[in-house]
Amino acid sequence: MKVVETIAEMRRLRLELTEPVGFVPTMGYLHDGHLALVKRARAENPSVVVSLFVNPTQFGPQEDFASYPRATRRDLTMLEKGKTDIVFMPSVAEVYPPQFDSWVEVGKISQRLEGAARPAHFRGVTTVVAKLFNIVQPAKAYFGQKDAQQVVVIRKMVTDLNMNLEVVTCPTVREPDGLAMSSRNTYLNPEERRAAVVLYESLKLAQRQWSQGEKDAAKLRQTMTALIQKQPLATIDYVSIADNETLEELDKVKPPALVSLAVKIGKTRLIDNVILE
Ligand code: AMP
Repeated sequence: MKVVETIAEMRRLRLELTEPVGFVPTMGYLHDGHLALVKRARAENPSVVVSLFVNPTQFGPQEDFASYPRATRRDLTMLEKGKTDIVFMPSVAEVYPPQFDSWVEVGKISQRLEGAARPAHFRGVTTVVAKLFNIVQPAKAYFGQKDAQQVVVIRKMVTDLNMNLEVVTCPTVREPDGLAMSSRNTYLNPEERRAAVVLYESLKLAQRQWSQGEKDAAKLRQTMTALIQKQPLATIDYVSIADNETLEELDKVKPPALVSLAVKIGKTRLIDNVILE
């Protein structure tokens, strides 16, 4: 496994890889959710590149860029075991030199849900992912369903800008009690960690009611909201039932519908989702 910090070196070593190349972009502090993407990339490609880069442009001014958890040495050990060929871990200055002033922005779907709560978030995501795609030139790139809107937005960017690669979505990996794995789970104290299971419980409740015939999206949102509100440590940011492509809120559930939510547990903002198929 080679660890590379500059774009020039990444490009040079990229030439030596056997095609096709599978690529997994991450912000590091790896867990089994990330490793599932690496494993899938490994199974489908002779070469695998993983990036570790905490991207400052996708964090809002009041968000956790500075405190975002980092554990590079541990990440590298995990990637070595996962048989990664190249780890690309550039500095912020390497990715965003002082004269940097170009952005990749997806329209309407970037403004909804997470985009409404975090205004410049997806502009930062699409810009860095476009840059990484240009640098790594993968045939396939792997993303987690955990960040459902991110996948929708990146697919739209790839289609609209004719990027020559396939986007592969991998299922959300969960803890035994159902909490979606996330680097941010590390912010939770033990009491908050127990409370955090309410996100998945509310998603399962919606899923159950829908499978029992409830088609009224407002009613499903209401039951989810009521369940979450019973948890004193939880504050709802949004509970949404939306079309999985346009991300527009639905009145009547028409599959595939994206049920997604953002909830603060104490000070930690968590997101999760399921799809009603
Ligand atoms: P991050 O490091 O949080 O930017 O995540 C990097 C990639 O891993 C993204 O495509 C995420 O959607 C994916 N990911 C994060 N958590 C999970 C999870 N629990 N299950 C599956 N994929 C995940």
